[in-house]
Amino acid sequence: MTPEEFRTHAHKMVDWVADYMTGVESYPVRSRARPGESAAKLPAAPPIDGEPMAAIFDDFKRDVLPGMTHWQHPSFFAYFTANSSPPSVLAEMLTATLGAQCMLWQTSPMATEMETVVLDWLRQMTGLPDGLHGVIQDSASSAILCAILTARERATGWRGNEAGLRGLEKLTAYTSGETHTSTEKGIKIAGLGVENLRKLPVDSHFAVMPDALERMIVADIQAGFRPTIVVASLGATGVGAVDPLRAIGEICQRHGVFLHVDAAWAGSAWILPETRWMLEGIEFADSLVFNPHKWLFTNFDCAAHYVKDPEDLIRTLTILPEYLKSPEQGQVIDYRDWSVPLGRRFRALKLWFVIRSYGVSGLQEMVRRHIAWAADLESWIAADAEFELVAPRSLALVTFRYRPAGAVGEDALNRLNAALVARINDDGRIYLTQTLVGETYAIRFNIGQTWTERRHVEAGWAVVKDLAGRISDQETV
Ligand SMILES: *Cc1c(COP(=O)(O)O)cnc(C)c1O
Repeated sequence: MTPEEFRTHAHKMVDWVADYMTGVESYPVRSRARPGESAAKLPAAPPIDGEPMAAIFDDFKRDVLPGMTHWQHPSFFAYFTANSSPPSVLAEMLTATLGAQCMLWQTSPMATEMETVVLDWLRQMTGLPDGLHGVIQDSASSAILCAILTARERATGWRGNEAGLRGLEKLTAYTSGETHTSTEKGIKIAGLGVENLRKLPVDSHFAVMPDALERMIVADIQAGFRPTIVVASLGATGVGAVDPLRAIGEICQRHGVFLHVDAAWAGSAWILPETRWMLEGIEFADSLVFNPHKWLFTNFDCAAHYVKDPEDLIRTLTILPEYLKSPEQGQVIDYRDWSVPLGRRFRALKLWFVIRSYGVSGLQEMVRRHIAWAADLESWIAADAEFELVAPRSLALVTFRYRPAGAVGEDALNRLNAALVARINDDGRIYLTQTLVGETYAIRFNIGQTWTERRHVEAGWAVVKDLAGRISDQETV
């Protein structure tokens, strides 16, 4: 393809992109494709000769789109959002065009220095303390893994990296059952072993009970273990639980345990001062992550990872073969030492575009509306005799279930709600997902999509009520 042909196709595609942004509502939110149906539309072998772009684009529209779930749909209320925005898409286009590998300062000085600067903007915007140093990771999972590895190396006096974990004291980690599974995965990858991951009990708000944490740590020390890391959640995945940071932090400090804070979803909301109560005690955190790619209108991937002591992270991850040496070493940041992969995209650019284009006040307004609509939804549910809240609302996440008059037995209610979720998602007007709250099957309704308006939330609630009313008893047995 010549640059001139590129220009023609790109103009057509940009028109398509803008139309998609305004028309995405007309698609079913969740793809209706059955397993295997998408692959069946693709030739099993690659073409030997090149094909015209017009044909490829037609196939994209005809064959690819039906197999896609529309995460940028204003009625996407499932999981947590992965919201995007026009300025973010524009920046991604430029990042793709430059195609730079930003692993070292030298391989693109601006990419490195902009990353440092915009992460400090973001730190100021979210009210995080001075003295936290930022890096963009591909995902919160990667940041959590980096935290576990750093904690492991600190606890073993950097012997883990050198000699392996065999023969060392057993390292233990602590988190609640509410914490995202990326912690458990990180524990496995880092070689701590899930047997050494202690699950902390939670209170009626699904938050960690600090007394139990302290008791477990003390018991582990007496039994010859080495308590290594606590992962606290501010806005955990299931129902958005918020752990008490100060109490946990004081315990960590007392026992020399690394504290990582996972706020992958909720952290973006800290651009609103009224949500910062949950940051009380944040000065105890050794590291923290939140994902602008979830709720700050910035395309995946963009996880903002902050560390108090970059030297420990760098010491844990650094590798310096001859071919990666550069004259500026020591005067500049080489972000390849801050993450697991060597190669890095120019991810700071989209954050720079988004923050400049909306301004802090524009971003605040959008997130504030999401939370206000979730509060409206919460009040509609609370006022409805056939539904009930299963957990307190957390920011823009509402967790509820259908409980019609006369319904008996928890098992039957669980089956009824599972059937309702399946109905809702087959219907296609909105997309919701479920969680287990203890033994209770609950429906999560998360508001955070860029194009969502209050009318979508109202319509979404109407869809839930409509489909609940039509569900038959047979479906639930
Ligand atoms: C989404 C989420 C994660 C995982 O995020 P990735 O960036 O996909 O790795 C971790 N923790 C919480 C609380 C989350 O909501």
